Amino acid sequence: MNRYDVLVTGGGIAGVSVGYELASDRSVCLLEMEATLAFHTTGRSAAAFLESYGGPIIRQLTVSSRSFFESPPEGFDGPLMTSRPLLWLGPVGADGDIRALEAEVKPLVPSVRLVDPDEALEINPILRREYLELGLLEPGAMELDVSALHQGYVRGLRQRGGAINTSSGVVGLSSVDGMWRAVTRNGDEYEAPVVVNASGAWGDEVAALAGVAPVGLHPLRRTLFMVGAPDGMHVADLPLTGDVGGTFYVKPEGGAQYLCSPADETPSPPCDAKVDELDVAQAIDRIRAATILEARHVRSSWAGLRTFTADRSPIACYEPGSDGFFWLVGQGGYGIQTAPALARVAAALVRHDDLPRDVADRGLEAGHMHRDRLGDKTEPTSH
Ligand SMILES: Cc1cc2nc3c(=O)[nH]c(=O)nc-3n(C[C@H](O)[C@H](O)[C@H](O)COP(=O)(O)OP(=O)(O)OC[C@H]3O[C@@H](n4cnc5c(N)ncnc54)[C@H](O)[C@@H]3O)c2cc1C
Repeated sequence: MNRYDVLVTGGGIAGVSVGYELASDRSVCLLEMEATLAFHTTGRSAAAFLESYGGPIIRQLTVSSRSFFESPPEGFDGPLMTSRPLLWLGPVGADGDIRALEAEVKPLVPSVRLVDPDEALEINPILRREYLELGLLEPGAMELDVSALHQGYVRGLRQRGGAINTSSGVVGLSSVDGMWRAVTRNGDEYEAPVVVNASGAWGDEVAALAGVAPVGLHPLRRTLFMVGAPDGMHVADLPLTGDVGGTFYVKPEGGAQYLCSPADETPSPPCDAKVDELDVAQAIDRIRAATILEARHVRSSWAGLRTFTADRSPIACYEPGSDGFFWLVGQGGYGIQTAPALARVAAALVRHDDLPRDVADRGLEAGHMHRDRLGDKTEPTSH
């Protein structure tokens, strides 16, 4: 029998980051069902750090993660982030949405500012003038090195004495006298008083193994693909640009390519998500209407599952009445940019400590992370 203080299920960014934080004073074993870590959502993201994105809890966690990305601890290969401003587009008729977004995010992100169509075109010359009524610029938005972040957490977890076992999908979870016993598909057994469920889209399924009621996770598929940049145009420093209504976004990748998305949200069971060509075609229509990107040839494409709770904010809490079963799920489309702060918050809650001071100072409370806040809400709100 392998005995630890904490078992973590899932080796995406959530699992490795909380494992790293907990391993500073506990023995930790992370169990991942795939043969490689970060195979699912973590390996498929758009790698953006956007402080104006998501609801209030997401923004508090994102802003609180910034200092970690700027000055990572020893053992992380930097830089973990580089500048990539964000331009939200308000198409004709959507200027009210842009103004509402500005009012909402300004208190936490004072650098955001409105831009008229002329300035928006100066900032991003691939835009079509007639598409746009008003823009919102987030000058401090960044691009993340997701692989360096994930690898840094993996290295740090191991250096702190943690174990990481791949090809170890948990298929059974039972609790006897305050001790959880996990059985993996290959028949290995592990014991610990605490299990952290960081299983992404599979979070409710892992809970079911433990006899714990689902929180109501909704995996929603999102598509990304690469096209060429406009000929002869220097695009490397142009901003990530997306419609405030969530119908598409585009981001330069190096000097010659664009990463594109229809910002789709198609319900899916937990799985190895695959691209539906119709989503790509829809994105190309929308992108051509708003920009001069021709997107004639799709160079590569992939899809991943963004997994949401009913109110689109993550849950980090012990399951009420179930000794030692801890949820760390529902990171949606923000799980990379929030990982450093969310891991510190989750580790504090696992230890029954107060929330980290910097996060609490931004208004986050333990109750905001608890599943009880959802009440009986089960269907996700639209974005
Ligand atoms: C297209 C796309 C773009 C995105 N863009 C961004 C972005 O720009 N910025 C941002 O911050 N976020 C972005 N995200 C969201 C971000 O990628 C996710 O929030 C984050 O990766 C979730 O991490 P996770 O560890 O919870 O899930 P995952 O990475 O999916 O990890 C969960 C792990 O649990 C494992 N597992 C499941 N069941 C078991 C079991 N029974 N036993 C053991 N292991 C198990 C799985 O194999 C998996 O490896 C994007 C997501 C997508 C799909």
